[in-house]
Amino acid sequence: MFSLTVLGSGSGGNCALVTSDRCRILIDAGFSARRISQRLQSLGIEPESLDGILLTHEHSDHIAGLKVFCGKFDVPVYCNSLTAEYLCREGIAEANRYKIFSTGSSFTIQDIDVQAFYVPHDAVDPVAFVLSSDYGSVGFLTDLGYAPKLARERIREVHTLVVETNHDEQRLQADSKRPWSVKQRILSRHGHLSNEAAAALVADIAGENLRRVILGHLSRECNSPELALGAMRRLSLDSLELHCAEQNQVSPQFEIGPLPVARPLRQNDWVTTGCSTVSEKINPVAGGHDNEQQAEYLLNLGWDVG
Ligand SMILES: [Zn+2]
Ligand SMILES: [Zn+2]
Repeated sequence: MFSLTVLGSGSGGNCALVTSDRCRILIDAGFSARRISQRLQSLGIEPESLDGILLTHEHSDHIAGLKVFCGKFDVPVYCNSLTAEYLCREGIAEANRYKIFSTGSSFTIQDIDVQAFYVPHDAVDPVAFVLSSDYGSVGFLTDLGYAPKLARERIREVHTLVVETNHDEQRLQADSKRPWSVKQRILSRHGHLSNEAAAALVADIAGENLRRVILGHLSRECNSPELALGAMRRLSLDSLELHCAEQNQVSPQFEIGPLPVARPLRQNDWVTTGCSTVSEKINPVAGGHDNEQQAEYLLNLGWDVG
């Protein structure tokens, strides 16, 4: 078992739960400890049973509940050293609470492998994560001005991707409440991904493994689920399973992997369905392979191709 539940996501706070056979991890703690606890308990999970909280960066919409949560529950906080220094200075949690990883490194929590990698954002040392188990992997890519090559490579193999669709550019430009400087910050290379940028990124990395995309970190004023999902559909990404995470509602529990294999292929399938049809089923975005690539891919899946 390997699953993801988004406890809430948006400009007002972000927190997600990943569970495996032996492990329960929060990604960020961006709303109140009380609300995080309530949402965990609504899933039948006691907060003190968590194996850790992974932090992407120190902005308040990712750590708002951390101080109170750490005061109540003895749960380790995984973050890089610059983020830990900042949180210590701010009195969020004492130094012995942190388990420090290096940005760019991999480490293990119980039966989950974690890769932490740099993303450009205006925080002290912001990271994104890929979490992997025997069942598959899930990527968390929010709070970034753009996706550098390394980040694209890291998320290319994931089964499920949580990606930031922060704003609709036209809505942001037309917003009369935000000063010009704030708009520039959001639009900068250390700001946030727009719907269009996120869709282009997903189209670029979608390959044989990607099955599901969860849109997150939507701006309350400058975006809507319809706009974010619309940007994905314009790039024909609706053949993937698309969801939009909500600020005030816990998402369904998404099972991560394995790749759906309905039944082994038999020889007749090549006659009756043909490669292109099989290929579309396996890889709804990238389209067809030639026969040799197709056979190799099916073998990699453990399918009987002949
Ligand atoms: Zn941020
Ligand atoms: Zn954020």
